[in-house]
Amino acid sequence: MEVNIREELMLLVDLQDVDDQLRDLALDRGDLPMEVERLRGEVDEMTQLLDERRGELNEIGHEIARVRGSTDDARTKLAKYQQQLYSVKTTREYDAITVQIETAKSAVNDGEEKVLRMLARENALMSEISAKETALIELTTDYETKNAELRAKLEETETEELELQHRRETIVMRLKKPIYAHYERIRKAKDGRGIARLVGSACGGCFAVVPPQRHLDIRDATDIVLCETCGRILIE
Ligand SMILES: [Zn+2]
Repeated sequence: MEVNIREELMLLVDLQDVDDQLRDLALDRGDLPMEVERLRGEVDEMTQLLDERRGELNEIGHEIARVRGSTDDARTKLAKYQQQLYSVKTTREYDAITVQIETAKSAVNDGEEKVLRMLARENALMSEISAKETALIELTTDYETKNAELRAKLEETETEELELQHRRETIVMRLKKPIYAHYERIRKAKDGRGIARLVGSACGGCFAVVPPQRHLDIRDATDIVLCETCGRILIE
């Protein structure tokens, strides 16, 4: 039993060492992975927005053509009615054509107004698209530069990281599951350190005093001792 716990503690020391090295590698990469991720998101977002705007521009182009067509029809009718006005014979005929002229006139006016509004929107869309295209080129360049930087850095440290990951897996396989789970929980919550050395009579992680009766358990490895304050696994 004693040997088991001592072995367990030695494995934990090894594991912490591997995790420290992995953390150094991650620190070396710094914010780069996050920055690349953020830029990629922005590129995707901008591309999607551009697609939407281009779609809208396309639709508005069709709509302008359609309204222009129907306005032209109304204009043709209007000219025809105005021509007919010269050849009317009765007041009734005159009234009927006048009504049609008014209808055609308002159709022409409505159509022209609608086209003007749509042309303004089309203009705004074209400026927006052009500005967004420029922004997208800049974003893409930025993303590609940062991504290449990250790739180079990853390549540089890839072998080292793989070796460390492999060593880690070997250690974890041999550790008891609840002990590993506890180590992981504390490591993640406590600044990357799941174990702490006993320094004098205190926990080397949080400097809380460890009860004297536990010192022997730690030294002789008769028990897994946790710091009562920070939860780290204490080792000699
Ligand atoms: Zn502690």
